[in-house]
Amino acid sequence: HAKRQGKDGMQLFSPEIGEAVRSRLRLEQDLRDALAAGELELAYQPLFDAQGRLISVEALSRWRHAQRGWISPVEFIPVAESSGLIVGLGLHALRVLRRDIDACHAAGLSCPPVALNLSSRQCRRAHHREQFLQALLDLGLGPAALEFELTESSVFEDLDKPDSIVMTLLSLGYVLAIDDFGTGYSSLAYLRRMRCRKLKIDRLFVNGLADSPDGRLLVDSIIRVAHAMHMQVVAEGVETEADRQCLVEMGCDAFQGFGLSRPLRPDQMQELLRRHAHGERVHVQTWQAW
Ligand code: C2E
Ligand code: MG
Ligand code: MG
Ligand code: MG
Repeated sequence: HAKRQGKDGMQLFSPEIGEAVRSRLRLEQDLRDALAAGELELAYQPLFDAQGRLISVEALSRWRHAQRGWISPVEFIPVAESSGLIVGLGLHALRVLRRDIDACHAAGLSCPPVALNLSSRQCRRAHHREQFLQALLDLGLGPAALEFELTESSVFEDLDKPDSIVMTLLSLGYVLAIDDFGTGYSSLAYLRRMRCRKLKIDRLFVNGLADSPDGRLLVDSIIRVAHAMHMQVVAEGVETEADRQCLVEMGCDAFQGFGLSRPLRPDQMQELLRRHAHGERVHVQTWQAW
């Protein structure tokens, strides 16, 4: 932590911080190039009901960096958000989704609704909102094909603004889910005012449920409150059959997690759809992760 004092008394970066800033800027530039080159792809993680039927899939961005290999969205989405690249990333995701849905149809498969994560930073400016809504229209991605996942904070911020992206998507009939529920600043008062149809309990509360009486109490309460408000409940991060069974007993509506299926490449997704079309209730736990 060798910080040097500049001539004018300003703190200069330590070599470590300088390196962190440089690698962050490099990542931003690489992401910009990757977007321009159309290198970002989507993985699809299925959601199942209590009977094991496939009900929808969540689209998750994937980026393969030429030198670094796969970079997690946990790393590049925040970079995209703070640099403004998230606007282009969101539009790109819509085009990739259209391409992947078309490929399913071309293979004679019908595609379940796809849920896309929407960042509030993506649609804060009016012209970005218009651009996004126009893309939905141009690509023919209506409420039957597409749903959106938003985190608590972005939903709350938008509730009082009629022309916000949340209120606009709701008025257009899109199903909205509150993502990572329990990790933001939730308020039951806000929950009451929202017209979100789904609530996704963060995997923090789901992992290890079977071994945690306190955890079960909490999740059971969340499910009751959500159901009283006519919301469907999705459990994220279902990794074990014991946890899934617990959630089934508590009346949870949908299940997503590595224990059921990892996020899949589009070709693997097609294989899953093909098998489900034949009535097989396959989980694909053993398939290669993406
Ligand atoms: P999320 O929306 O909560 O997505 C679920 C994340 O949990 C995914 O991570 C998924 O791979 C992971 N996951 C699913 N099941 C399990 C499990 O059983 N155990 C564990 N440990 N993890 C599980 P991923 O793909 O790394 O995405 C991370 C986050 O990045 C997402 O969290 C979402 O907030 C964001 N994200 C991803 N793609 C996009 C995108 O296209 N746009 C925006 N705005 N955000 C995105
Ligand atoms: Mg999500
Ligand atoms: Mg989530
Ligand atoms: Mg999450």
